[in-house]
Amino acid sequence: MAERTPAETLVAAVAKLRETAAGATRGPWVSYGTPGRSEDGHAHTITRPYCNKGMYDPDAECEPDCGTTVLTTGAEGCEDDNLATGDALWICLVHPGLADPLAAWLEPWTGIAFDEDAALPVDLQHALAVARAIVGPDDVATAIRAAVDGLDNQQLADLMEGR
Ligand SMILES: [Zn+2]
Repeated sequence: MAERTPAETLVAAVAKLRETAAGATRGPWVSYGTPGRSEDGHAHTITRPYCNKGMYDPDAECEPDCGTTVLTTGAEGCEDDNLATGDALWICLVHPGLADPLAAWLEPWTGIAFDEDAALPVDLQHALAVARAIVGPDDVATAIRAAVDGLDNQQLADLMEGR
């Protein structure tokens, strides 16, 4: 796969931020121990919290996705879907409400022609680092999908177990 230029990376990051957030439950997100399963410390539920509209105005409409559950682990008593507390907190930290401000911060750089071999302004270096972090995993995910495409379940299990 041809490597993206910095300009292409910025454009791809802006698009990926907006497209991915558009399909996600609205932020902010919070995490708490899954009821009845929080004693083991690895069962977490992540939700958009309930909005306050009903508390102040009984006739007010709830905000979109009010109270929506994003993820529940451990609800079936299964430990296969354990989620470390630090990971749950991180998922909440990077909720979709970050997408618009990040995209808005990156977007102005997409319209500027710059010499990639010249010393870049510090702000642009940071913007590029953020953009690369955002689009990078997509390339990895595409490579993984390509590698496992066509394998049956047994072959996939063998691959995951290193056989
Ligand atoms: Zn509400």
